[in-house]
Amino acid sequence: METIEKFNRHVMTTYGRYPLVLEKGEGRSAVDENGREYIDFGSGIGTNSLGYCDKDWADAVCAQARAVQHTSNYYYTKVQADFAAKLSQVTGYDKMFFGNSGAEANECAIKLARKYSFDKYGKDAKRYNIITLVNSFHGRTIATLSATGQDTFHNYFFPFLEGFINAEANNINDLRAKLDDTVCAVMIEFVQGEGGVNPLDKDFVQELFKLCAERDVLVIADEVQTGAGRTGTFLTSEQYGVKPNITTLAKGVAGGVPVGICLADEKCSDVLTKGTHGSTFGGNPLACAGGLAVVNKVSQKDFLGEINAKGEYFRKKLGEMNEVEGVDGLGLMLGIRLKSRDASEVCGKCFENGLLVLTAKNKLRLLPPLNITYDEIDRGLEILRRVME
Ligand SMILES: *Cc1c(COP(=O)(O)O)cnc(C)c1O
Repeated sequence: METIEKFNRHVMTTYGRYPLVLEKGEGRSAVDENGREYIDFGSGIGTNSLGYCDKDWADAVCAQARAVQHTSNYYYTKVQADFAAKLSQVTGYDKMFFGNSGAEANECAIKLARKYSFDKYGKDAKRYNIITLVNSFHGRTIATLSATGQDTFHNYFFPFLEGFINAEANNINDLRAKLDDTVCAVMIEFVQGEGGVNPLDKDFVQELFKLCAERDVLVIADEVQTGAGRTGTFLTSEQYGVKPNITTLAKGVAGGVPVGICLADEKCSDVLTKGTHGSTFGGNPLACAGGLAVVNKVSQKDFLGEINAKGEYFRKKLGEMNEVEGVDGLGLMLGIRLKSRDASEVCGKCFENGLLVLTAKNKLRLLPPLNITYDEIDRGLEILRRVME
């Protein structure tokens, strides 16, 4: 109680929080001040991808803290080079920029796309518009809010940035109509996360990539939520059979230390030149050490296979519950449609019963740690079933 009072007195009330003070975590369970355990199907919004205090991850971050914790980007560190090389090997992108969050990774992508067009077509072409999809979510900065295709986010903070156009997801004619010569990029989430766990149709995605390639329009994939193994492949683009010019990562890629990454292909990897972009904390050694530990583990074929198998197991078990109408999503990114219950009410009841889950629009959303065990899945789902029935 003391913590919550102190917290509310001094921290801005920008979030609706559950009355839970987390003190530590073990495996896939969070433990509160009173020693009460919560099975975590939310992973801090898909961020604690190896659960709490994974030994290899914690050892790597602690060792780095004892070696060098920060350098600024005037100097080099081995751990940033190693992390970048590993990501490059796993994703096929040669070059990347490091920031600290999803929004920052997307800011980088937006700047990169605009400069690509500026360099190639000149200022007078005014080829700076970026198409984003209705119901998308790209972050909380002014630029990424402007990119976000949901009106509920477009309040208070006027003026928003110009240069963003919304097209409907899975409607290729709408996209084609809006892809004029003012457009420099199209930005998508393969599975809209905050928008309700809605995967894009494969046909739509492949047609989108074709149209963009014909018009020299860059495709930006916001994989902040879907990337780093979450959906069962390291990048979700692999499942769609496409390679975006730019992919952004954040959330789960460093297992709980803040990082944002903007990956660029050979077409645009040299656009951001000396002095055009930067970030004091970007590529911070602690973040890179955590990231390297995550990617070393998650990129293994067996580990990715397990993510898919566990996703299927979730679907099967959820499908047997009376209240579940259907399950959307890929891998361990799951959106549960409920027949009659309200998702946020169920979420609250789960919390009271020792299970942490999330919502996205009117669905229950599960983003469990990628190394969750079958026993933990069973125990968590048993709580969910009891709560719903
Ligand atoms: C969470 C999220 C972001 C924003 O990431 P932050 O780290 O909160 O800035 C952007 N895009 C998608 C798809 C996300 O899920």
